[in-house]
Amino acid sequence: MEFDTIAAISTPMGEGAIAIVRLSGDEAIAIADRIFKSPSGKWLKDVPSHTIHYGHIIDPDSGQTVEEVMVSVMRAPKTFTREDVVEINCHGGLISVNRVLQLVLANGARLAEPGEFTKRAFLNGRIDLSQAEAVIDLIRAKTDRAMNVALQQMEGRLSKLIRELRQTILETLAHVEVNIDYPEYEDIEEMTPRLMLEKAQYVREQIKKLLQTAQQGKILREGLATVIIGRPNVGKSSLLNALVHENKAIVTDIPGTTRDVIEEYVNVRGVPLRLIDTAGIRETEDIVERIGVERSRQMLKQADFILLVLNYHEPLTEEDERLFEMVAGMNFMVIVNKTDLPKNIDMDKVKQLADGRPIIATSLLNEKGIDDLEKAISEMFFSGSVEAGDLTYVSNSRHIALLQRAKKAVEDAISSIEAGMPVDLAQIDLRRAWELLGEIIGDTVHESLIDQLFSQFCLGK
Ligand code: GDP
Ligand code: ZN
Repeated sequence: MEFDTIAAISTPMGEGAIAIVRLSGDEAIAIADRIFKSPSGKWLKDVPSHTIHYGHIIDPDSGQTVEEVMVSVMRAPKTFTREDVVEINCHGGLISVNRVLQLVLANGARLAEPGEFTKRAFLNGRIDLSQAEAVIDLIRAKTDRAMNVALQQMEGRLSKLIRELRQTILETLAHVEVNIDYPEYEDIEEMTPRLMLEKAQYVREQIKKLLQTAQQGKILREGLATVIIGRPNVGKSSLLNALVHENKAIVTDIPGTTRDVIEEYVNVRGVPLRLIDTAGIRETEDIVERIGVERSRQMLKQADFILLVLNYHEPLTEEDERLFEMVAGMNFMVIVNKTDLPKNIDMDKVKQLADGRPIIATSLLNEKGIDDLEKAISEMFFSGSVEAGDLTYVSNSRHIALLQRAKKAVEDAISSIEAGMPVDLAQIDLRRAWELLGEIIGDTVHESLIDQLFSQFCLGK
């Protein structure tokens, strides 16, 4: 493929002392030679690949020295983009890096679009689509575990599995073709549906297994939508604050004053929680409060996980019991707060209402019990055993949707064979599954999808 030469600043803006201007394309080295001068007078076009050189960036129009730099020269194909790559390491601040970039652009490079370096790596066959998407995930990863999932995907674990499944389907289809072409072998006619059924069932089981990891993968990527509920004044805002370790939510003595919905990300021992504080769920005549209550009910619908807070110092109320009813069947945990005050709550009743869910005692005022809570959350989520490294996770919603459709296609094939329909019907379904799986790794994708995916990147990646 033929591409023009692109350039961008490829280090995070404002971070660290060193910033890199990266060039990629056929003209990368020639462009660098127009503005780079080494003390010995050597040209970058003459240096060996994968070497680094000291020198100065000189504005060829004015002859003015712009920046002192180290320049890396990496020739195709052993580079990230599989094109010639030059990286100009500038130690100066943002202004001088920008001047270097401007010079590079004035001397023949084009400013890269977001994600364009990775897009080239994909288009030049260096990485497949799911690996490119993993780069996006990596940039956005919220916890170490999420990062591991993205890294695995980038290394191609998911791609490898998908390729194997596609290969199985293809071999099966090829086998069926041969048998249709040579129908004179009678026993083959009986064998064909049996073989197809066997292979289709195998593929279905593999897709099922992958989809089972999807939920956990999605949570790692997007955060567990967590809602804190409880009567006014039980300590919901205090709990949020304790988890966030910052005072972003308003804590107050006046019941029901946390009116705005606040969202916050916290990393609880590798579990990313997307915490949503609520105004407390209760019926009220107050119109402002009611908006809060309705929003809370809405949020409960979207919640993956609920923290139900009770007051140790007060007897259980009807309202508390109604909250338990609202979360019945959901993934929740009970927090009994204010244990520094005398006990007025009926703990036996709490245990009964909790129905086997963890109950954590806290005194948020004294920062007690937070460790227990965090431990319980990570145990609940990881079930004590599952590590990101053990499984190939599917975490990307595009991949999940395609896997679900592929599974459906395989299931259609299975039902038609089982119903004794002609094998060419099942063949069509299997072919469809093969195509859908191909879309995950980008073997059978549309160009517009590629553009849309890569535009999600930040500049310089
Ligand atoms: P919310 O209305 O449920 O959000 O409750 P807040 O977090 O705003 O807390 C209400 C009041 O209870 C505040 O005055 C807190 O300081 C106080 N509070 C929170 N946790 C505790 C605790 O563990 N012990 C005691 N004694 N007071 C607490
Ligand atoms: Zn509050």
